[in-house]
Amino acid sequence: MINYLYQEQNWQSQLSQLITDPLELLETLQISPDNLLSGALLATEQFKLRVPRAFVEKMQKGNVLDPLLLQVLPHHLELEEHAGFVTDPLGEEAANQLPGVLHKYKSRFLLTLTGACAVHCRYCFRRHFPYQENLPKNEDWLNIKAYLESQPQINEVILSGGDPLTLSNRKLALWIERLESLKQIKILRIHSRVPIVIPNRIDEELVSLLKNSRLRVILVVHSNHAAELDDFTCTQLLHLAQQNILVLNQAVLLKGVNDSAQVLVDLSHRLFEAQVMPYYLHVLDKVKGAHHFDLQTDKIDQIYTDVLASLPGYLVPKLVREVAGEQNKTPLFGALTF
Ligand SMILES: *Cc1c(COP(=O)(O)O)cnc(C)c1O
Ligand code: SF4
Repeated sequence: MINYLYQEQNWQSQLSQLITDPLELLETLQISPDNLLSGALLATEQFKLRVPRAFVEKMQKGNVLDPLLLQVLPHHLELEEHAGFVTDPLGEEAANQLPGVLHKYKSRFLLTLTGACAVHCRYCFRRHFPYQENLPKNEDWLNIKAYLESQPQINEVILSGGDPLTLSNRKLALWIERLESLKQIKILRIHSRVPIVIPNRIDEELVSLLKNSRLRVILVVHSNHAAELDDFTCTQLLHLAQQNILVLNQAVLLKGVNDSAQVLVDLSHRLFEAQVMPYYLHVLDKVKGAHHFDLQTDKIDQIYTDVLASLPGYLVPKLVREVAGEQNKTPLFGALTF
């Protein structure tokens, strides 16, 4: 068993001691700095390196192709232009009604309370999104409330990001209380990668906040590879399930990271051990700078066919794409032919 260094350190101090220097990251992993081509440092000017040390600890030393490292290490290929790869692939700027609000899907309403993430994933479709001008302040709540009341079919609010679990428990509690005050809201969903990259974020205060809410709480974590789910991370996730909080996982299919059926099968099994149900497997959004993670359609088809054949149905994540302007995520497999 590896000794888990960061288990004892509280999440706030972990969040304030992220690795942001690519050379320090490589040095920590005993990888030669020669692996960073000059373009990689330029790429960090567009989207900074940010990675918690607890996540780096899950990476394999000396392995420049480590699937966790590839998700966070800036790459010179990010600077290449590719047809169809754009800064706002989902048209989110257009869907933006009020600060921090995205209402694209009928019954679900997405609320962004922070632009900050604990980790910067190089493939992220939000890498160019102008968050900072667009966050709700306390005084915006009344407008958000009025909007929700004008749309009574909305019964679920999704806290997304940025990453909502970078916020303090106090701030989360304030927003949860506001949402609880609206009778129409039944479900609170939190989309976060923090429990994977800083498992200590699941502290007693957060657990008690979520389990004591009037709302049915669903946490959707984001893990792409079983190596992200070490024993401590799984213990933390299991703790939530034991408190009656439904935990789901979404992953992104990424070339070089998890583009094999076996890796995805292992991920599903590992999630299930932590009582986390696989939810979505997203194909890559065509965001500028992420082309080197992209896979050919026939390769995706072949991987997913093998995943279907290898897992019980309840462990198969739904393969989806997000299409700008659509009313829901678009399922990609098994087009209706009857
Ligand atoms: C993905 C997404 C949701 C949630 O969709 P589900 O299919 O319910 O998980 C809601 N709103 C927006 C804008 C989204 O992108
Ligand atoms: S929004 Fe999610 S995928 Fe994007 S950088 Fe933040 S944690 Fe990573």
